[in-house]
Amino acid sequence: MNHDVIVLGAGLAGLAAARDLAAGGADVLVLEARDRVGGRVEQTALPDGRLVQLGGEVVGRAHTAYTALAAELGLTLLPSYVAEPGALTRATPEAVSDGDPPHWFGPGDDARHRKATAAFTALARTVDPDDPWSHPDAAALDRLSVAGWLRAEGATPAVVRLWEIGQLALADGSYERTSLLAALRKHAAVPGTDDSHYAYEAWEGLRVAEGSATVALRMAAGLAGRIRTGAPVEAVTVGGGRPCTVRLAGGETLTAGALVSALPVGPFRRIAVTGVSGERLASLHRQRQAVAAKFTAAYEQPFWRARGRSGLSENEGVLGSTWPQGEGILSALVPPERYGVLLGIPAPLRAPELLSEIARLYGDEAHRPLATFTRLWGTDPWTQGYVTQWTPGDVTAVGPLHGTHEPPFYVCGSDQWVAGYMEGAVRTGRAAAKEALHRG
Ligand SMILES: Cc1cc2nc3c(=O)[nH]c(=O)nc-3n(C[C@H](O)[C@H](O)[C@H](O)COP(=O)(O)OP(=O)(O)OC[C@H]3O[C@@H](n4cnc5c(N)ncnc54)[C@H](O)[C@@H]3O)c2cc1C
Repeated sequence: MNHDVIVLGAGLAGLAAARDLAAGGADVLVLEARDRVGGRVEQTALPDGRLVQLGGEVVGRAHTAYTALAAELGLTLLPSYVAEPGALTRATPEAVSDGDPPHWFGPGDDARHRKATAAFTALARTVDPDDPWSHPDAAALDRLSVAGWLRAEGATPAVVRLWEIGQLALADGSYERTSLLAALRKHAAVPGTDDSHYAYEAWEGLRVAEGSATVALRMAAGLAGRIRTGAPVEAVTVGGGRPCTVRLAGGETLTAGALVSALPVGPFRRIAVTGVSGERLASLHRQRQAVAAKFTAAYEQPFWRARGRSGLSENEGVLGSTWPQGEGILSALVPPERYGVLLGIPAPLRAPELLSEIARLYGDEAHRPLATFTRLWGTDPWTQGYVTQWTPGDVTAVGPLHGTHEPPFYVCGSDQWVAGYMEGAVRTGRAAAKEALHRG
């Protein structure tokens, strides 16, 4: 059967695109490899009814595409863990400490940190997040790593370590291997955060009360009959004056007037694509993701509060961070630098080992969760990562085709925005639908 548009992937991006296409009168079909929708947003319920988010969770006040969609879907936004009382905890092999300054800072480090932050935010104001390639020093800024730039700015090793532990917490990939231009672009995309190179409140201050994955489930409910799960795409052909074709694993072929790819960059690389320019494919294939795992532990009570701790931590262990996702439920990320270490731990020993790290932060109650969940997103075949990653040189190599379309081939997905995130998925999904509807 011929459709107006086939959307590849039923994550937030594909669902947002399909929802707007259907609302615009298009006959749209969504093809999804897994047996569920949502992609990197996924949730499960505890026996007591609390929902546990296994993937994407929080958004910020500057994430306007996501917050507008949540409102359209009748969902409620609440302050996230950022509003939790208590101190941020930092854990390194030599010590655990609360609040600022971090325990490894000595005389002069705080001033150097503030100086580096001011220089970074000033430089970020010179970058257009929608067109970083137009910066007069784009290539040079892209070649530099954030850590290399920090050292060139006179940051002490203690300052570099503070920025790096924050990056381990985000699990985006080490600042030793992150493009300065990409980091500046990310900062420029979320205005009003001059006092910090990453403002938790601006990026992570809100969450959907009904559960992050409910955003995907609500969109899917509105698309009933238009989504095929268990349908992995293997090959697509575009253009040439003929309908686009999509071949599924097993050989079935479907046709449409246009295609919207809402796939993560890893799985997209495995698809045979014909009829799209070599330049565009090279750009898409050059994109990458940081690999990470998410660990979640559910407890009766948020026991960390009794110790004056917020549950937010930055760590140099196998875990890079923890934060409370809901009452008594602690989330944690394993960053790319530790992902191999996690895989090297025999599966039955992983949770006990990660709980020991949490116990070092918040006390022995950590060893007695009601349930734990370990989600290996980095090696999940339909994700192959976690969030967009830009190593030095990547912004230049991907180039200005990033996030653009080649009708009747449209792209969306969080990787097509500056820095990934659920905002990127929704923003690019809706933009792709608008463009496809406009072109008819
Ligand atoms: C552990 C974790 C924590 C995160 N935390 C946050 C957070 O707190 N805040 C935030 O904003 N973002 C967060 N993110 C990122 C955010 O969840 C993602 O950026 C966003 O959900 C991605 O949406 P997407 O639609 O672009 O891609 P995806 O959700 O990955 O959807 C792509 C879909 O394509 C499908 N697919 C893949 N290959 C094929 C194929 N060959 N054929 C058919 N279908 C295919 C996949 O199964 C998937 O359903 C997190 C991500 C993870 C993994």
